Amino acid sequence: MRSYSLIAPAKINLYLEILGDRPDGYHELVMILQSIDLADKIDLRPIGTDAIRIHCDHPQVPQDQSNLAYRAAELMVEQFPDVYARFGGVEISIQKNIPVAAGLAGGSTNAAAILVGIDMMWQLGLTQPELQDLAAKLGSDVPFCLGGGTALATGRGEQLSSLPSLDSLYVVLAKDRNLMISTPWAYQAYRAEFGHSYVQDAKTLKSRAERMHSGPIVQAIINKNHAQIAQRLHNDLEKVVLPTTPPVSQLREAFESCGALGTMMSGSGPTIFALATSQAHANEMQQQVKAMIRDPDVEFWVTKFSNRGIQVVSAVN
Ligand code: ATP
Repeated sequence: MRSYSLIAPAKINLYLEILGDRPDGYHELVMILQSIDLADKIDLRPIGTDAIRIHCDHPQVPQDQSNLAYRAAELMVEQFPDVYARFGGVEISIQKNIPVAAGLAGGSTNAAAILVGIDMMWQLGLTQPELQDLAAKLGSDVPFCLGGGTALATGRGEQLSSLPSLDSLYVVLAKDRNLMISTPWAYQAYRAEFGHSYVQDAKTLKSRAERMHSGPIVQAIINKNHAQIAQRLHNDLEKVVLPTTPPVSQLREAFESCGALGTMMSGSGPTIFALATSQAHANEMQQQVKAMIRDPDVEFWVTKFSNRGIQVVSAVN
């Protein structure tokens, strides 16, 4: 059996609208998700014993059964007990480059990489829809992370439609290293404040989600009109995170005043991203915001949109 190295890219949300509640306790969402080049590296090695082992070089990432990558391996064991009995377990090593609890789907993309890696290691030959079904059991962002690129996501985020690639856009990310936001907290806070305005009937929910397919930001993406994409960025969760977390709104204002094409919080935050037309524009904006904020705890990344999800970079015997 072979060992695999995989690249697991982060995502940002170009659009996140909360429509209502779902009977399963999640929210009904419409989102536009975008992969970026910032990525974790995952190594997956077969081990003869019946165990799943996990290591991660980041102190805030759990190294036990609660790690989402571990849960992905556990799901494969549950789904394919005979193959597991024949081939044995796996050792997972995660090199964490994606900031943790940052709204960038770090855990979800690691889980997606494990599904892809174990499918290859155990030669299961799963189809993309089969992998997507397994991914949806692990979390709302995991199905997107498998194929990546630019996609419209509805339902709780697991129903995906691909959109044309935008991989010529650059992006600056900024995050205070001491700030982490729990995704469940952000959604609960939103429900507490805005739940009264949720769409209640299933028919309206369906038509709102369908309307998004021909909505203004999707049209801007199809036309590759970067200025219009930037104008139409939207994230409902900003309404609960920005007022309660002043450093996040200060960062957002700083990018706005430094000539970002558009700026927004990603997912449940606290990462702020700013769009740029070129690498030089992104670097310049990063320098200006750094000088304005003057806080050594704020970390910056200059990266690019990507049209790819999980990538296998090597397979060795
Ligand atoms: P999302 O954008 O999907 O809501 P996020 O980027 O906000 O996710 P993660 O980086 O996935 O957040 O981390 C959320 C929590 O999950 C953290 O508290 C972290 O400790 C835990 N976690 C479990 N497994 C992982 C993993 N493999 N990588 C990162 N965090 C993990």
